[in-house]
Amino acid sequence: MAGIREPRLAVSVDLDGLGCYYAIHGLGEPPPAPARHLVLRTCLPRFLDLFARHGVQATFFVVGADLHADPEGRAILADLARSGHELANHTHTHPYHFTRLPRAEMAGEIDRAHAAIADVAGRAPTGFRAPGYAINRQAFELLLERGYAYDSSVFPSPPYYAAKALVMGAMRLVGRRSASVLDDPRALLAPRVAYPATAGSPYRPSTGGPGLLEIPIAVTPGLRLHVIGTSLILAPGWLRRHMISAALASPLFNLELHGIDLADAQADGVPSALVARQPDLRRPLVHKLRVFDELFTAVRGQGGRFVCLSAVQTAGR
Ligand SMILES: [Zn+2]
Repeated sequence: MAGIREPRLAVSVDLDGLGCYYAIHGLGEPPPAPARHLVLRTCLPRFLDLFARHGVQATFFVVGADLHADPEGRAILADLARSGHELANHTHTHPYHFTRLPRAEMAGEIDRAHAAIADVAGRAPTGFRAPGYAINRQAFELLLERGYAYDSSVFPSPPYYAAKALVMGAMRLVGRRSASVLDDPRALLAPRVAYPATAGSPYRPSTGGPGLLEIPIAVTPGLRLHVIGTSLILAPGWLRRHMISAALASPLFNLELHGIDLADAQADGVPSALVARQPDLRRPLVHKLRVFDELFTAVRGQGGRFVCLSAVQTAGR
């Protein structure tokens, strides 16, 4: 139809292991094998099947240390890089206090993951996402020094921010400690569309000096509801359809998923302490697959395109 743009959808999957969720929920030591390797060995192949059904080329944000810890998961990632998916940098150990790290430690987190991912993929990553969506000037400086093309950490969603603050506050009340860190609230006012950012201006468009492209995670116009895997899985059908059509009307729908989004809690033996704290884990796998199948089918039905984040050049087409 003349004047109506076809949607453009960038799908990314953060491959946080179950240990990351243990840290968020203050559950102590990460779970033993096989749950420890669940995301790479069990969930990741489900994503590859799903994406193959729809011709989706996706971006996978990899935690570098997992490549050393899990040879089986590493082999799966090497295969998917060969088949044209993008591997990007999600730090080496996924520290939630990433923005509070001294410069040398932060650089080590970026560099060790960079080397491990380049080794597996056969090409160096050009994109970065911080753990827990928190980014700052020092991180941007380090990414710029290393020639990174884009960052996709900014999450301009006040409802998500408020919900996270509430959970962290409630945990403190009962004496449990979350590893989570709240992002700089200025991120909540960041643009919804991709913008040129500099180290001095991570949250606002700026062309003053060397910069990289910031590709914010999808939120709806107006209320800025977060449109990510877990919110789509948990939303009632009417709200999910609203969130999807609003996100697809943007120049780019930057859909962030997590490896755990395709866990089948019971069949996969996800520890019950974690299932009790993650409502999305209590939804059956068949429901979660249906949500994503419907979304990708809708995109294809509208003549839309799936792009890796490294192919996103500007906010426009
Ligand atoms: Zn993560």
